[in-house]
Amino acid sequence: MKVAKFGGTSLASAEQIKKVCAIIQADESRRVIVVSAPGKRFKDDTKVTDLLIAYAQLVLAGKDADEAKQRVVQRFTDIAEGLSLDQAIAGHITAELIVMLDRKHIKDPARFLDQVKAAGEDTCAKLVAHYLRSLGVKASYVNPFEAGLLVSDEAGNAQVLPEAYEKLRSLRDRHEIVIFPGFFGYSTDGVLVTFSRGGSDITGSILAAAVQAELYENFTDVDSVYAVNPTLVENPKEIHEITYREMRELSYSGFSVFHEEALYPAYQAGIPVCIKNTNNPAAPGTMIVSQRATTETHVSGIASDKGFCSIYVSKYLMNREVGFGRKLLKILEDEGLSYEHTPSGIDNISVILRKKDFTADIQKRVVQRIQQELQAEDIVVEQDLALVMIVGEGMRRSVGTSARATSALARASVNLEMINQGSSEVSMMFGVKEVDADRAVVALYDEFFGNE
Ligand code: ASP
Repeated sequence: MKVAKFGGTSLASAEQIKKVCAIIQADESRRVIVVSAPGKRFKDDTKVTDLLIAYAQLVLAGKDADEAKQRVVQRFTDIAEGLSLDQAIAGHITAELIVMLDRKHIKDPARFLDQVKAAGEDTCAKLVAHYLRSLGVKASYVNPFEAGLLVSDEAGNAQVLPEAYEKLRSLRDRHEIVIFPGFFGYSTDGVLVTFSRGGSDITGSILAAAVQAELYENFTDVDSVYAVNPTLVENPKEIHEITYREMRELSYSGFSVFHEEALYPAYQAGIPVCIKNTNNPAAPGTMIVSQRATTETHVSGIASDKGFCSIYVSKYLMNREVGFGRKLLKILEDEGLSYEHTPSGIDNISVILRKKDFTADIQKRVVQRIQQELQAEDIVVEQDLALVMIVGEGMRRSVGTSARATSALARASVNLEMINQGSSEVSMMFGVKEVDADRAVVALYDEFFGNE
């Protein structure tokens, strides 16, 4: 039994949905199907989820939102027409969509927003289920509430609850294809809550773990995961096999093919994930597995992410001061900040944070407290940092990888603000200025993959 998830571009139009349904029909083990909301049909198009958010924001601002609502309805009406769905059924689905957009829930803005956002996936799942039925395939839309997809009550950032898996397991026993909307679940109080953006990947992974699928197929619009961002390097190397750990590091540092949080349920249940292309289903795609045979270079991919900053703190004899690190991190905790990395030396430590969380106000308070409470000698905040990562199983055991990396970066005149090689077994991380990040990635790609 396979769980297959289809992303937004795979469902952007009636034509795309027809491809999706052909893929479902081509393999009878594809029994649980998770769908996103329709995405972009062309480059400057707008995803349905973004149309829905725009609508909700107008409503919440007390502005006229009729046109925005109409744009959403029109996208789905066009799809229903393109699929030649029975008019009564299409009318019924539209009526249910309009109920989800109803203003009566507006009193709690965060809940209202979640309910509106979920309408994209929900409506799409109903259309796909009815289209399959019109083709004579036994398929049903299944609502996450009825199926028991229980999540924490954090609007826009739900986390699956452990008891959900047991409840969802019964999807296995259905004698029909299950069409399940991605992106949202319900709290134990029955309130609809969405995952973070791109969260249909998470739904797919949860269902794959719950039904103990042999494979979780994640259909998107690229043939595979590439060893580097394809907008930076022409025709980059395709990755055919990668481990969960490698994928985790690559998604953390900017690979957007698969949602960062989506790996965990599949990983825990030991279910391999295959990233495939709806527009080219014959391509083998990328398998994400628990173990793979490492190659000579051991490097799988190069990634980077911008938007970081660092707080550098130094104090003579810091190494002997019991509790220094804890006190420093406590100051950040008091501000509700989560930190990303903490490379340290004998008398100094840097804390790397996401820039967007470290506002000017927070920075002022934090620096003041570090000065007063820790009597630090030097505190320097550096903005506009990027993290560049080389990722690969076994890489750290192969002699010379870091020498090759740093030489390549030096040749490209990239100044290194930080190197972090110590903690992760599968990655090596370099902190560079944001302006240098793309050049650094290209230099590293050329070094490790240049002659492949
Ligand atoms: N439609 C949602 C989004 O755009 C979730 C998803 O597509 O996975 O974020």
